[in-house]
Amino acid sequence: MAKAAIFLSAGSAEEVTRLGLKIYLNGKYVDVRNAKISIFDHGVLYGDGVFEGIRAYKGCIFRLKQHLERLYASAKYIMLKIPLTLGQMTDVVVNTCRMNKIKDGYIRLVVTRGPGTLGLAPWLCTKPTIFVIADRIKLYPEEFYKNGLSIITVPTLRNLPETTSPRVKSLNYLNNILAKIEAHNSGVQEALMLNQRGYVVECSGENIFIVKGSTLYTPPVYLGALKGITRDCIIEIATHLGFRVIEEPFTRFDVFDADECFLTGTAAEGIPVVKVDNRIIGNGRPGKITKLLIKKYREITSTDGVMIYS
Ligand code: PMP
Repeated sequence: MAKAAIFLSAGSAEEVTRLGLKIYLNGKYVDVRNAKISIFDHGVLYGDGVFEGIRAYKGCIFRLKQHLERLYASAKYIMLKIPLTLGQMTDVVVNTCRMNKIKDGYIRLVVTRGPGTLGLAPWLCTKPTIFVIADRIKLYPEEFYKNGLSIITVPTLRNLPETTSPRVKSLNYLNNILAKIEAHNSGVQEALMLNQRGYVVECSGENIFIVKGSTLYTPPVYLGALKGITRDCIIEIATHLGFRVIEEPFTRFDVFDADECFLTGTAAEGIPVVKVDNRIIGNGRPGKITKLLIKKYREITSTDGVMIYS
């Protein structure tokens, strides 16, 4: 069985330190070695916080506005007031990229409830912690794009929409982490997650699409998926190209019966899936429509975004 690869790492702690990275931390740009937060930070103690993963391409930050809007919406849901305006946060992200001379890279923006007591009480946390890391990105190996991924359905279900909304991009990623471990333990790269009714929801870090004929299907977010920004972009591209895109619940039956399947996410972009639960999807090769959409997505990412360097 193929060994699951480790990818998407922005570098080990040592590599990052060696790079002399500048981190935005609570109003200051500090060397990565001095970027320290309190062990009483509720982001650490309870996963109480929200985050975004954003990409820069050719000196432009892709869909920054959408990422920031999702961050503020996530924060609002958990009743965390971010002490910066959207405009100020835009400047912080752009400046962090500039300070690290990022042209093509990955940005991690985190807002936690901040330091507090050992109890849960978020109202005793006086000041949210904000940090931004802008670094180079190690992409998924090209072979995954060329040959497609093998994924499996994992036993861990996606968190129910009736619990903390899965639409919140919160620091509580254990649901996804367990799913990722289960996939890794089975020697594949990604985990297909279902909800409690057996509907396909998404993968541990990407949304999912299937293609049947010239129609694309993706699960509606109310089933428990994150409203992916790449997902939205792919829907726009596909619609613009004249494909029908239907957001409706479907099951593994529909996945096995699909002609094509692919995943979408900021880090992965679009990535074909050729095997699910050891069953071959379509003809076992990345599909034509999948390849076209990935190509168009890549064209858009390099021509659209907030400029880092003016
Ligand atoms: N679902 C989950 C659970 C995610 O964490 C992500 C982001 N990594 C996505 C979907 C894809 O979202 P986006 O396209 O906004 O990166």
